Amino acid sequence: MTTRDFKNKGIHTRLAHGGNDPRDFHGFVNPPVVHASTVLFPDAATMAARNQKYTYGTRGTPTSDALAAAIDDLEGSAGTIIVPSGLAAVTIPLLAFLSAGDHVLIVDSVYHPTRNFADTMLARLGVEVQYYEPTIGAGISGLMKPNTKVVFTESPGSNTFEMQDIPAVARAAREGGAVVMMDNTWATPVYFRPLEHGVDISIHAATKYPAGHSDVLLGTVSANERSWKKLHETHITMGCCAAPDDVYQVLRGLRTMGVRLERHEKNALEIARWLERQEGVARVLHPALESFPGHELWKRDFGGSSGIFSFVLKGGGEKEAHAFLDALEIFGLGYSWGGYESLAVNVFLGDRTVAKGDYEGPIIRLQIGLENPEDIIADIARGLAAAKVA
Ligand SMILES: *Cc1c(COP(=O)(O)O)cnc(C)c1O
Repeated sequence: MTTRDFKNKGIHTRLAHGGNDPRDFHGFVNPPVVHASTVLFPDAATMAARNQKYTYGTRGTPTSDALAAAIDDLEGSAGTIIVPSGLAAVTIPLLAFLSAGDHVLIVDSVYHPTRNFADTMLARLGVEVQYYEPTIGAGISGLMKPNTKVVFTESPGSNTFEMQDIPAVARAAREGGAVVMMDNTWATPVYFRPLEHGVDISIHAATKYPAGHSDVLLGTVSANERSWKKLHETHITMGCCAAPDDVYQVLRGLRTMGVRLERHEKNALEIARWLERQEGVARVLHPALESFPGHELWKRDFGGSSGIFSFVLKGGGEKEAHAFLDALEIFGLGYSWGGYESLAVNVFLGDRTVAKGDYEGPIIRLQIGLENPEDIIADIARGLAAAKVA
């Protein structure tokens, strides 16, 4: 839809102007929110041939096209589908590329509901599911089988932030004939563009930073040229389209995502570095810290870090973790992240099969919001003091 070309412009210019062209709608800066099921055809011949741009609400509207075009520009993709949640952005591409008798390799540090989908739905459909070490790199070729159709990656991993060597995994997977998918929610396309590193399909929970305000659920899936047709067909077949108001909110969110991310990054790094110096903390799991095992991969491939990371309490168990969480006043106890407000959760690793890690104590995940860092630090200090006496 966009006729203006921002491809060679800076990332903030593209976030500000990507997607819609104001001249398409009387000059209004933002695209209309089109609430649609039926689209009318001018005559029977056009209707029979279905050869007009829009034919039915499930197949796209000017609103969904605007967001898809904006994401395509950011990801460098051939096409993007928009789905009602981040989880749907994981399940739809897996359903598109896997059939009975196929084998799928999934990183063991994957977002838990992705694992749940694989272990239940994919298993029921006759797909063989295997998990691999996040640090496997080119060694993934040793796990490839003739029927391995998908290699699923997520980097950094959920909750423990293991970095994957995405270019090495993608190369080996493609050599073995598999489609490579990446859940890129942590970095957003501002800090990592998977398709430039050999990935075929880039997945986002737009619920997180793109939406940014803890009030919208949405997912996007972006494909390169060779994977787009199948992904698009599956999206239409499943009828899994997103609601126009939510789509609009995410496009609106993109306009400020760059500046929000910069603040999330700055706050999170300040707090992560402070945590590293605290007595009750065994280590901090943040890819941008020099002390983190995957730091070199992050530095090589990523343009920045976002606002979510974890730390390990020095000793203790659930009692200490709960004491920490219950002492917090600014942090909310709740799932998801990417919103303006700080959140904390006690990490559960009981579902891991190969990447269990060897941690000194309970792991606490922090989503660092846009509050003043000194206030966030005081809140965490309160939590650490409570954990110590627990
Ligand atoms: C949150 C999340 C999702 C799912 O997004 P929802 O919109 O909450 O369904 C998928 N992948 C990752 C890595 C996430 O953090």
